Amino acid sequence: MTKNEAKGIWVFAEQRNGTLDKTALELLGKATELKEENGETVTAILAGHGVETLADTLIAHGADRVIVAESKALENYSARPYQKVISSMAEKYAPSIFIFPATALGRDLAPRVMCSLGTGLTADAVDLGFDEEGAFVQTTPAFGGSLLAHIAIPELRPQMVTVRAHVFDAPEPDPARKGEVIVENVEAEVDPDYEVLETRERVVSDVAIHEAEVLVAVGRGVKQESDLEMFRTLAQLIGGELACSRPLVDEGWLDHSLQIGQSGTTVKPKFILNVGISGSVQYMVGMQKSGTVATINTYAGAELFDISKYGVVADYTPLIPAIIDEIKARKANKKG
Ligand code: FAD
Repeated sequence: MTKNEAKGIWVFAEQRNGTLDKTALELLGKATELKEENGETVTAILAGHGVETLADTLIAHGADRVIVAESKALENYSARPYQKVISSMAEKYAPSIFIFPATALGRDLAPRVMCSLGTGLTADAVDLGFDEEGAFVQTTPAFGGSLLAHIAIPELRPQMVTVRAHVFDAPEPDPARKGEVIVENVEAEVDPDYEVLETRERVVSDVAIHEAEVLVAVGRGVKQESDLEMFRTLAQLIGGELACSRPLVDEGWLDHSLQIGQSGTTVKPKFILNVGISGSVQYMVGMQKSGTVATINTYAGAELFDISKYGVVADYTPLIPAIIDEIKARKANKKG
């Protein structure tokens, strides 16, 4: 569709089993900021079966309008039916900007919708805004995160983008907000090539690191897998969670859900302790919005020291057990 035909900011509101993904609210927060600049209304597009009740939450978080694509065939996510329905909704209502979360689902769906609509898509953005001429600009890390690219889609519409999870804050809900809800009973067919027999919640042993207020993050400097136990103990003692840089995931010591960074999770804890992590661009892009940063590293030139409020140049092996003993002793003194 052409520039003149398209208007409005759309957010794809991801839901699974009737529960909204947090990204839906984060993206609505950003969309509301964009609206303040270009004056266009914010629409959340929701697809599923019996999910209309989620519309109130989306409106409370900034949507002016919610379009619900309703069909039994959309109950579970499946690429081709979702592609058809979301593309036909976009063709019908002609948004100018269409924002998806860079979740597994969003990364699968957005390029398919882009192909159907014959437009452009920027992947994995970390910021959105407008330039001096009012062009919509998507900022995305390039060349392994060492550069930030500012991308615009000048002619084609909608201007599509996937945005990394947890880079924007979800706004506080305003239950008094009013908005329009349009339920589209769409004709969709379940993909005939495969059948979803069952969906199961992925079980990971730790709390999601992007929600943690305190993190103990460990990296390649950790000598052996058994040392992770002392870091778990430390994290527990200070009311936090264990997280890591990529080498420990590559090593198979920790789950990918615990990885901070460009190809992992973006975190914003109030306090983060980094141990045995040098501070590559790809790591720091995922934790640079943290509150207080502390670092333990044997190498005084480690980049993480540049953004740390507290730093100790030391080998963690004797230091961590000593810190654990000290915390335990202080806790015991408090009780006594
Ligand atoms: P290193 O850089 O090897 O640092 C280890 C540190 O431990 C050193 O500074 C060393 O001085 C210190 N040390 C050693 N022994 C001790 C000790 N006894 N006590 C205290 N300190 C000690 N990386 C990520 O983390 N997250 C990502 O999401 C990510 N995505 C990537 C995406 C792409 C496209 C690419 C190309 C790379 C990505 N990487 C990512 C990898 C990244 O480039 C780095 O290789 C990685 O972050 C390095 O991890 P590290 O700091 O733990 O290891």
